[in-house]
Amino acid sequence: MRYEAFHQRSIDDPEGFWAEQARAIDWHTPPQKVLDYRDPPFRRWFSGGTTNLCHNAVDRHLDARGEQLALVAISSETGVTREISYRELFDEVNVFASVLKSLDVGRGDRVVIYMPNMAEAVFAMLACARIGAVHSVVFGGFASHNLALRIDDARPKLLICADAGMRGGKVIAYKPLVDAACTEAQHPPPHVLMVSRGLDPDASRVEGRDVDYDALRAAHAGARVEVEWLESNEPSYLLYTSGTTGKPKGVQRDVGGYAVALALSMWSIYDVRAGQVMFSTSDVGWAVGHSYNVYGPLIVGATSILYEGLPTNPDPGVWWSICEKYGVRTMFSSPTGIRVLKKQDAAWLKKHDLSQLQWLFLAGEPLDEPTAHWITDGIGKTIIDNYWQTETGWPVLSLMPGLDMKPVKFGSPGLPAPGYRLRVIDDVSGADVGAGEKGVLVIEPPLPPGCLTTVWGDDARFMQSYFSHFKELLYSSLDWAIRDEDGYTFILGRTDDVINVAGHRLGTREIEESCSTHPSVAEAAVIGVHDALKGQVPVVFATLREGDAAAAAEGMRARVVEQLGAVARPARVYVVGALPKTRSGKLLRRSLQALAEQRDPGDLSTLDDPGALDEVRRALERGA
Ligand code: ATP
Ligand code: MG
Repeated sequence: MRYEAFHQRSIDDPEGFWAEQARAIDWHTPPQKVLDYRDPPFRRWFSGGTTNLCHNAVDRHLDARGEQLALVAISSETGVTREISYRELFDEVNVFASVLKSLDVGRGDRVVIYMPNMAEAVFAMLACARIGAVHSVVFGGFASHNLALRIDDARPKLLICADAGMRGGKVIAYKPLVDAACTEAQHPPPHVLMVSRGLDPDASRVEGRDVDYDALRAAHAGARVEVEWLESNEPSYLLYTSGTTGKPKGVQRDVGGYAVALALSMWSIYDVRAGQVMFSTSDVGWAVGHSYNVYGPLIVGATSILYEGLPTNPDPGVWWSICEKYGVRTMFSSPTGIRVLKKQDAAWLKKHDLSQLQWLFLAGEPLDEPTAHWITDGIGKTIIDNYWQTETGWPVLSLMPGLDMKPVKFGSPGLPAPGYRLRVIDDVSGADVGAGEKGVLVIEPPLPPGCLTTVWGDDARFMQSYFSHFKELLYSSLDWAIRDEDGYTFILGRTDDVINVAGHRLGTREIEESCSTHPSVAEAAVIGVHDALKGQVPVVFATLREGDAAAAAEGMRARVVEQLGAVARPARVYVVGALPKTRSGKLLRRSLQALAEQRDPGDLSTLDDPGALDEVRRALERGA
């Protein structure tokens, strides 16, 4: 099937197209209406149909592939690898679901999951799905305050945690963080269920509130729990955005539309079918982890690999050794992850047999060309940049090797995924811009299946955040884009990441790209800083792979002037040891900008390494 025809059909006849796609999953009762769009921009896909994510991810595979691996959970932190077949997954999930029921958790109740990237996190998610409880996974690396905020938003009946996680060999006790969060929260859960990994034998227990999973698991051994059939539009889970641009938004996902969109994306985009192996390096706490470590691969009967640990432990070849050992067909990671490897010897990329590996997808951030070339040359595979958001739940832009693979254009995540009606429009007039012109990337509603249904408990914020930017009712991605003559879209950065130098509007991304072409540069972050004369001037913060700071700064300036013109010339270049990022690896430009303008750095709840901000402060004090 050719991409063009497939995509066009999804636009011309969305109901026919999605009715066909819906056959890829099991329905308990078939949908009565493919699309109900009586209340724009709210839409209901497959309304009246009942189904269940856990049934589709687990039960329905038992006959054909019960003994096939469903999940391989590898931890380079604990040194433990667990290989779990579909039958074993079915057993574990049933026991977990039975435990949840015994704790009075049922349909529609929220369950917060605060765990490292371990198999039980997946069991817990699927168990919630099985009984119709709404999970809200909170990334295990977040501090207690973040957890408390999410508890208060979700008001869970239960919190599931591990005793501890590990990062770089260091044990991080979770239980004290959970206790602190429950104290801080206004609406703490009545019960905390702790899965002990034996990492923190002294973990405290609060009498009457805390229960141990081990004991309950034994008590519920062999249990079977009936699947709860949910209407397609009931909530399946909540998940917060990364908080790069401000307070995170609680994305609410449905059941049927999500399952159908994932099934479609697995074969058409990721080129993975039943019996094949997918390895996503994401944490289950992120959108990629939900869609492509848990639900996507399992819904289609593939094997999913979950990895806990650094990409450099025990050595920088660890990801590729996993690809070799399990015959991974498609791998999924992030530009940030690849940049970590880029600081290591490229010889690590050549040490393992990657003959099974077909594709490496990268998402989450702009993929700069030097990094794209480095990894393409290093592993000798096709690298596919794909663009999406926590909100969309699956790719918006990608190349689709499962249909027909179009040529890669470095710097572009490619073409619209099926079902997406994308436009690039002028931010002021709202008119479509021509090929090669910059505008805001918008999705024409109704949003396709899989995308968020609303912001949890806050329809007004849903409207205001995404649909209030233009006269027409359009979903704003809040990202700048350019579409070229061939329809390839290039993402230029966020709409609040634009610099206005003496009336010239420059995307921070373009300047960052230009800086990172300098061989010494590992990563560059560019922001606009207030300037009395020009309005704003570009300021660069960069980390180096090697070389001298002053020479690198001069080199970056020269390259920007040469590639983008004198107007983009960075007014100041600061070389730092680390850049401030969110826990999901995204540059916190808004905080850099605030510090450079001597303002408060804003919501730092999702900041990864506070040391990086201190470094920036010191660099600013020292001067460029
Ligand atoms: P918040 O919405 O809370 O500010 P966030 O936007 O970083 O945080 P995510 O949903 O994790 O939260 O990230 C989606 C954003 O990441 C996109 O809107 C885009 O800015 C960026 N992004 C994702 N993939 C790509 C890509 N392939 N190329 C360029 N940018 C990307
Ligand atoms: Mg966002």
